[in-house]
Amino acid sequence: MQIKSRLLIVGAIISLIALSTLQGYLTFNTYDLRKHKFAVESRSKIGSIVNTPYVDSLSWDYRMDFVKKIPEYRNGKITKEQLVLELENAAKARNGKFLEYFKQGANHFDLEENIYFKKVASSIQLIYENGETDDIIIESDNNPSFLIGTDFPMEEGLIINAWNWSFDEEFINNNLEKEIVVIKYRATLYMKIDDWDRIIFKQLMLLFFIAFLLFVFVISLVTYSIRNLLKLKRISEIKTDFINNITHELKTPLATLSIAIKTLSSKYAKDNNDIAQVSIDTINRQNLRLQNLIDQVVDNSLGYNDIILNLEPINLSDFINEICDDFSLTLSNNIQFLRSIENTTTQVKVDKFYLSTAIINILNNAVKFEGTVLKVAYSIKKDIHIISISDNGIGISKKNKKLIFGKFFRVSEKDTHNYKGLGLGLYYCSEIIKAHKGTIEVESNENEGSTFYIKIPSNNDKKNLVG
Ligand code: ADP
Repeated sequence: MQIKSRLLIVGAIISLIALSTLQGYLTFNTYDLRKHKFAVESRSKIGSIVNTPYVDSLSWDYRMDFVKKIPEYRNGKITKEQLVLELENAAKARNGKFLEYFKQGANHFDLEENIYFKKVASSIQLIYENGETDDIIIESDNNPSFLIGTDFPMEEGLIINAWNWSFDEEFINNNLEKEIVVIKYRATLYMKIDDWDRIIFKQLMLLFFIAFLLFVFVISLVTYSIRNLLKLKRISEIKTDFINNITHELKTPLATLSIAIKTLSSKYAKDNNDIAQVSIDTINRQNLRLQNLIDQVVDNSLGYNDIILNLEPINLSDFINEICDDFSLTLSNNIQFLRSIENTTTQVKVDKFYLSTAIINILNNAVKFEGTVLKVAYSIKKDIHIISISDNGIGISKKNKKLIFGKFFRVSEKDTHNYKGLGLGLYYCSEIIKAHKGTIEVESNENEGSTFYIKIPSNNDKKNLVG
């Protein structure tokens, strides 16, 4: 059972981790695919906006302005840099119109607001009639000229496509001869998506939300199942312990009873009245012991709702002193019994029988679990009556402290010596104190003794105080 449930828990945790990793991977993949799809869609929308006769004619106009400046360059009137600047300025002069047109197109095609477009001249080469070539812009230099759109750093852009154009221009050179120059021009289109994670996240928000909810749901389900499994395991262990304990407790009186009955039915007892009387006394004692054992199980199993209190106003100082007086008579000489009982005249409503049962149960435990110095204290703080019972016995581990008030709970015999008991005493105490609308707590460390605190509010006769 132990190995099986441990395997089950490990299996469940591993499956949960595997499932979460898979879910994380799939979500990430979906995110990636969505990003890709978004880029493709945006690219195609931009394509639809800029591949139009209007944009073509704009581009044609600034290219022609540039072409017209080539003879001046060839004839040495302007430098290469000035020629490039002519192209840039010609494009710039038309950019206002272009941007307006792009905005309208973006509205029409429902393009996200933070997607930008630019066109650059990435390479320009002039080839003269004599075969001479002149590179105005070299593509590999990666220093293109911005033409139209919104300028942004190259490394932030995604290429939409590139476009080539070739044109022959005839002009008169410095020698007054006609010359033809071939212009090889290449433009590249880029787009930039600002804050693109936010856009994709917005689009996938519902998916992420459902995935997150499912994840939380599965984790809760697994945690709940594991906790339930552990609880059931614990209950089953506690029940087995209880059956072992009660069998053990029943064995001794039953064995004594059977010996006494044998003696009583033997011929010695028939001939000897004294022997018969001793056997009858033994039978009576064992019968009483068995009766007590059964009463203990029946009574101590009562829940606080089943406990019907007969509340009467009493002075707890006197009452606790009386309990201590009686209890001290049962103690052997090697046990030191101390008291620190505040003398008050305050009264509180309690059931004397039940409250004394609870206090005596705790005192008995203090002795049973090897306490040699016991101390009972009583005080009233902020209308709460506090009874504390301490011992210097074996103490209780941190783990068990939370469990000792549970029904049938006993600290495992592996961890302690074999102390007699059914694991009902503290459960019964806590139910009695609950019925009084109070609380019971323990402070303890292993091998350092324990202190039990019973706290009963002064107004405990009012309804709905503590559940
Ligand atoms: P029982 O005494 O019959 O075992 P209880 O319900 O009275 O059952 O106590 C539950 C468990 O709490 C005990 O088995 C013991 O391990 C622990 N315990 C209770 N009182 C003390 C104490 N004073 N010192 C150490 N351990 C204690």
